[in-house]
Amino acid sequence: MTQKNARKSMGELSAILKNFGIDNDQDWLAIVLFVRNLLTKLSIYSDKKKIEIQQEIFRELAKKDFSDKQFETIIAMLDMYIMQTIGALELEESLAQEKRSATQLLNEMHGIINSMQGNCERQNRKLDAFKEQTVGVIKSGKDQSLIVSKVRDMFQDLIVEFKEEARELQAKARMLEHTANFDPMLTELHNRRALDAFINDAVLGQRKKDAPLSLMMIDVDHFKKVNDTYGHQAGDDFLHALARIICAHAIQYQSFTARYGGEELVIVMKGMTLDKAILKAEAIRADVESYDFRIRTDGQLANKPIQFTVSIGVAQWRTDWNSGKLVNAADTALYEAKDSGRNQVCTFTD
Ligand code: GH3
Ligand code: MG
Ligand code: MG
Repeated sequence: MTQKNARKSMGELSAILKNFGIDNDQDWLAIVLFVRNLLTKLSIYSDKKKIEIQQEIFRELAKKDFSDKQFETIIAMLDMYIMQTIGALELEESLAQEKRSATQLLNEMHGIINSMQGNCERQNRKLDAFKEQTVGVIKSGKDQSLIVSKVRDMFQDLIVEFKEEARELQAKARMLEHTANFDPMLTELHNRRALDAFINDAVLGQRKKDAPLSLMMIDVDHFKKVNDTYGHQAGDDFLHALARIICAHAIQYQSFTARYGGEELVIVMKGMTLDKAILKAEAIRADVESYDFRIRTDGQLANKPIQFTVSIGVAQWRTDWNSGKLVNAADTALYEAKDSGRNQVCTFTD
């Protein structure tokens, strides 16, 4: 599957799950995956029957009862469909054909399992062993009930397999979400795209609530010189340390942190007035100034620390401003801090 298709399929799946109000539950994800994907591949059912089964299960899901009891009920329903089919086939076929019917079901399931293989070696080994075992049972042609019980086992196994798939899809979705919203280098900070979306929402939200909203823009002082003197790696290491300091502060007042670009970082503080935001900015400035940053070469820390400082611009949103104006105001304040000698906090004033 291409990444684009995988993303599309995940999008569809998450839309189905959201529609049913299912969050992260692996068991329920497995059920939806089973009914939506696997069932459609079973040719022992007519298309009409498949739709009937899907509709019945989806009707159950639409009840939004995600209790263990309801889960058992749905498993029992699916189990019943499998057994019903085998039963119907048994009735209309001779004994020799009965075996073929069960074999057909098993083979189909094997085919589906084959198409699901390829992700995880552990799973592959398990499935291979299982396949050999069931094929052995069919070939021996011994006991019909043994074949039927194998089909049941296989069904249970498929549910487990789908659980794995659901888990992998969730992990991939989380990874894609992270890639889409966070900075590739300073991974704890949101990227510009996520920042723009957050500020837009925050402006709309605060306007409705008539609540304050402040933003600080932080820029490292004379960072070019640091790169030129100690090398780009030292600069990168410092940026990582700075991102950690900023996140440690922002988390205390539940604020949003992002990399605006280069060595410019931003904190968006919902519900925060300018006076309070200035105090928060001053605390960050002081922390950076006293931070004991040492260059690491070949795993060895330098004997002496290098002192870094930051300049910070702070602005409080005004009701007639859009998100761009808020960012520009903090940027203007930042330039004032630079012009006034750096290592200080300035605010936006008209
Ligand atoms: P000042 O802000 O005090 O005016 O001076 P400055 O030297 O920091 O100037 P400015 O903010 O304009 O320059 C930013 C420099 O930061 C340019 C670039 O070399 C460096 N920089 C930007 N992003 C990175 C990065 O990811 N890693 C490293 N090592 N350096 C970066
Ligand atoms: Mg700078
Ligand atoms: Mg800069």
